[in-house]
Amino acid sequence: MRKKIVAGNWKMNKSFDEGIQLVKEIIELYAQEVKSQTYVVIAPPYIHLHKIQPLLFDMPMIALGAQNCSEMSSGAYTGEISTAMLKSVGCDYVIIGHSERRQYFNETNDLLAKKIDIALTNLLQPIYCVGETLDERNSGKLFEIIESQLSEALYHLPSENMRQVVVAYEPVWAIGTGQTASSAQAQEMHGFIRKIIAKKFGDELAENISILYGGSVKPDNAKELFSQPDIDGGLIGGAALQARSFIDIVKGF
Ligand code: PEP
Repeated sequence: MRKKIVAGNWKMNKSFDEGIQLVKEIIELYAQEVKSQTYVVIAPPYIHLHKIQPLLFDMPMIALGAQNCSEMSSGAYTGEISTAMLKSVGCDYVIIGHSERRQYFNETNDLLAKKIDIALTNLLQPIYCVGETLDERNSGKLFEIIESQLSEALYHLPSENMRQVVVAYEPVWAIGTGQTASSAQAQEMHGFIRKIIAKKFGDELAENISILYGGSVKPDNAKELFSQPDIDGGLIGGAALQARSFIDIVKGF
């Protein structure tokens, strides 16, 4: 049985106090209202992580994640945060390869492969993001692009490491635009991703890997997206900034 996961990526939002308040509200609503076995990952800015960790002690279904990490292990890399540091403040997950990192910080598949390796070394589960731009979708090269994002960053992994990876399909044209992929478009890509993972790593591994959808997921479209056979949850941006909308998305399962 693969894990159902809804992850909230706060991006560069929320002051320290606002962030702590938001987590407290999420915990309360989750405890009161969520009946399904759905895991939640909260990925706030780095500064919130240490303070959030103790708030989650009694919440085994809610884990902490970071939005990024360095590909280096330690040393003179001003401004960077290592995966060992993230583990030391209680992170279990790290988002790697978000399209904003690819677009604004020139992160390539080769660099992302290194981040994935060091995350796994420090026992963090990567949430590895892939997705096409609108031009790439319209060019007809959609599937090739997703396959190369997967193969260049993940295919070097031994199976036992690949099992720890969560994949997030996030069409770039759907992120923050209010224009979500239809459930059929999302299912088509998720099915494709699972198929090519099966080709490389075998059916059993592919069947057990969680593949999340991201891109303008809201309470009113979550249920339909999550009902697709190859969609195992969501990576949520804007709607993760309010406890009510985030938990209503979690309740889409
Ligand atoms: C994201 O940033 O990963 C994302 C999916 O954002 P939004 O939900 O706002 O489209």
